[in-house]
This record gives sequence, structure tokens and C-alpha cells, in this order.
Amino acid sequence: MKSYIVGNWKMNFAVSESSIYLHKLLQRTRQYRDIEVVVAPSLTALQPLSLQIDRKKMRLAAQNANPHDFGAYTGEVSFTQLRGIVDYCIIGHSERRQLFHQSDKDIRASVAAALRNNITPILCIGETETERTFGETYDVLRDQLLGGLSEVSTEDIAKVIVAYEPVWAISTTTDAHIASPDEIADVMQFLRRTLLDTYDKSSAEQIPLLYGGSVNPSNAGAYLTVPEVNGLLIGGASLIADQFVKIIETAKKVRD
Ligand code: PEP
Repeated sequence: MKSYIVGNWKMNFAVSESSIYLHKLLQRTRQYRDIEVVVAPSLTALQPLSLQIDRKKMRLAAQNANPHDFGAYTGEVSFTQLRGIVDYCIIGHSERRQLFHQSDKDIRASVAAALRNNITPILCIGETETERTFGETYDVLRDQLLGGLSEVSTEDIAKVIVAYEPVWAISTTTDAHIASPDEIADVMQFLRRTLLDTYDKSSAEQIPLLYGGSVNPSNAGAYLTVPEVNGLLIGGASLIADQFVKIIETAKKVRD
């Protein structure tokens, strides 16, 4: 399986800035056969960047899309409209779940819509600080994982990527909120076991499991060596070329 390094730019950079930043990343990134680098710019930048990107080095992701293919959904953009522009889409990011009240129903419909449109879904799951405190982590993760995948056919299940992002560990610099590699090791194993218990072995083994939550060049190596971690989903550090490129190089070193 490849290693995945995914940068979520969130709501940052105007179109021209995105283009300049992508240019910088492309100049500084080598082509690695065993590492898939993916960046997720804002919606407005996706189409122009799709013409600029070197797909041998990097792929594009959307940060969200609407599960309906077409129709009267003012202000929304569908997976069908993103077809040919992006290869991936982040689905169910905690910011969308929390700030925009995205429901499990929307999320499972989005995962199915992505696959229907030949876009690889990156399904994000993760417990909040309160859920963690009340010992609900594993129940929440099982529900979000199996709920998010429940409309995926058995033939398609191996085409999905899952990202574990503990909500309490996102965009933090506080030590108490940085998830330790030991802590996430148990969770990653739980996720793989849940997939193995639910789907056939060869499909379940092929699903890449990413970790996300305040990843930076100093901790990326430790996360990438946790068993069952097949890549990283990165927010803040993906906006700084030096840091993002260092994380890609770390992923390469860990593989070699
Ligand atoms: C994210 O929001 O997906 C994320 C992982 O952000 P950060 O790396 O800034 O914690």
C-alpha cells in the first residue's frame, strides 16, 4: 500500500495565492512512486489548479461536496461537478460535522456519491474531548466508521480511505492535547480490527488508515511508524511549504 500525505488547506489562500503555493510545492517535491501526496485547496482554486498540477507528483482533493448529483441546492457543489477536477474528497471533517452540522446521513451519502463519481473519499472520524472523557471513544469511532461506510458496496470498500482525527488533538500546540503515538496505536488497531470483522480480509487490509491532529515535521516520523498508520492528514503544517515538504520527505525515509 502507498503512504498518503494529505494537506488540508481549509479556508486559506485566494486563488492566485493557491496557485503560487502549489507552484512552490511542485518545485520542491520529488516524484515518489510509493507516496501519494494530496492537497485540498478551497473550492474556487480547484479548477485552475487542476490545470496546473503535475499529477505524477501530487493530486487534488476537495474539502467537501454535496451528495446529490444535480438540482436545486443553492450554494452547493456536487461530486458530479468535481469529476475530472479532483481525485479525492475529504468527507465528514470534524469542522463540517461540528460547525455545519453535517449529519451521519449526509456523510454516508457523500461517501457513496464520491465513489459513484470516481472520486476517492477520505472519510474523517474522531471523538470529541467530551466523548473521550466519558470513555465513549471506541463506540463513537465504530459508529462513525461503519455509519460512514454503510452505503458502500463490497466491491467498492477497498477504494475508501479513512482518516482518524481526534477532535481534541486538531490544531493544538498544547502538550496535553497532542495525541501520543502510543495512544493512537490502540485506536488504529481497533479501526483495522473493526474493518476486518466487517468486510472481507483482502478489502479490509487494503483500506489506508491516516492519522491527523497537529502533525508537524517533528512528530510526523513517530506517527508514521505506528502500526496501521498508512499516512497523515495535515492542516496547519500543510500551509507552510518547508513543513509540508519535510513531512513528505519523512514519509519517504520511513518507507525506505
Ligand atoms: C485537520 O483539521 O484536518 C488537521 C489535522 O489540522 P491540524 O493539522 O492543524 O491539526
